[in-house]
This record gives sequence, C-alpha cells and structure tokens, in this order.
Amino acid sequence: MNLVLLGYPGSGKGTQAKALAAKRGFTHISTGDLFREEISKNTDLGTRVKGYISQGKLVPDGVVLDVIENRIKTLKGNILFDGFPRTVEQAEGLERMLEKYSMQTDGVLFFEVNEKEVAKRISARRFCAKCGAIYNVLSSPPKTENKCDSCASPLSTREDDRQEVVLKRIEVYKDLTSPLVSYYRTQGVFHVIDASLGQDEVYAQIEKAVESKAGY
Ligand code: AMP
Repeated sequence: MNLVLLGYPGSGKGTQAKALAAKRGFTHISTGDLFREEISKNTDLGTRVKGYISQGKLVPDGVVLDVIENRIKTLKGNILFDGFPRTVEQAEGLERMLEKYSMQTDGVLFFEVNEKEVAKRISARRFCAKCGAIYNVLSSPPKTENKCDSCASPLSTREDDRQEVVLKRIEVYKDLTSPLVSYYRTQGVFHVIDASLGQDEVYAQIEKAVESKAGY
C-alpha cells in the first residue's frame, strides 16, 4: 500500500508519518527531510535546492521528480509520501512513475486544519537535528526544556520556520498545492483527516483510514 499525506506545512504530516511508518513498516519518504539532509551534507543537490527552501519557494518539479524516482525505483511498495506531491505536475509525475514500477497510489490522507492554526503550530515547532524527533513547545514539549527526549541533544528551529518564510510557504500551498485536493478527491482514494485535533486523536483517524484499505 502506498499513501500520500497532503496538507498545509505545519498540519502534522511529519509527526504522524513517523508514527505510522514505525508502526506499520512503511518506508517514509519526506522530500523536505531529504532536501535538508542534502543541504547539511553540502552535496550538489543541497546547493541547488537551498535557495528555494530558504525563501519558502518550491523546488522545481523536475528536480523533485528525479529525487523521488531515484528513491523509489528499488522499493517494492509500502511507501508513505510526506510533503510530496506538492503540485499537480508532481502528482501526474508520481502516477506515471508508480505505473512504471508496477505500483499505484492507494490512499491520500488530507490533513485538514485552518491557516491560523498552522501558523501558530509552526512558530512553536522545534526539532532535534541529531535524531529527527519533532516537538511543539505548546502542545508536545520535551520533558526537559530545549533538550531532545530521545538523545538529549539541544533542539533547533527550522530556518524556514521564520515568520516571513512561513507566510510565503502558506501562500505557495494555497496557490500550488491545494489544487491537489480536487485532483485526488475525484479518484476514490481520498480520506479527510481532522488535523486540528490532538496527536493521538489524529493518529486514530489515520489508523482507521489505513485499516479500511484492502489487505489490512
Ligand atoms: P517540508 O519539510 O515538507 O515543509 O519542506 C520544506 C521545503 O522543502 C519546502 O518549503 C520546499 O521549499 C521544499 N520541498 C519539500 N518538498 C517539496 C516538493 N514536493 N516540491 C517542491 N519543493 C519541496
């Protein structure tokens, strides 16, 4: 089963994807995480995408699709796409690619939450650069202030979580990513998740949607 997680930045996709991947054995592909890793390693790809990310713009579709193809061509399915696709062109590219490797999109989970709430959540978001754990200083703070619960490293704020960049990312979502809601809604694979609720309640809805799929 291959799933796409769709929704505003800050709607909780990353947190839920990590939980679902761990519990259900999905291969979690987050294009955002992938790009951040390339940037931190100073690779050619990292250098190419850095400027787009720091300005809150989308990385060009061709670059994203190449990265995805390289990642999925050796996989046999059970993939969780998080933060991809983000444009209709990417969604069409994904469809072609999955077909090429004899796979398909089995479910799209749309994380529904309003714009005001995501802006609030992003400003409270912290992450651990060492192990990737995500925190929210308001709703899911670490046990010790500014320290990762899992590995005790100091927590960081994402560079593109600065307020002016967040506003741009929200605008980009509305212009380029939200058309995917109508794109997928008509395809019979679409599930609306009320992402305004707490983490456990959101996870319970996701489990229900996953279990409703054949074979689970
Ligand atoms: P995220 O961690 O998903 O919020 O992504 C962080 C940033 O990486 C985005 O604001 C974009 O600049 C870039 N990015 C991540 N995924 C994509 C994608 N599928 N298409 C284009 N740009 C992306």
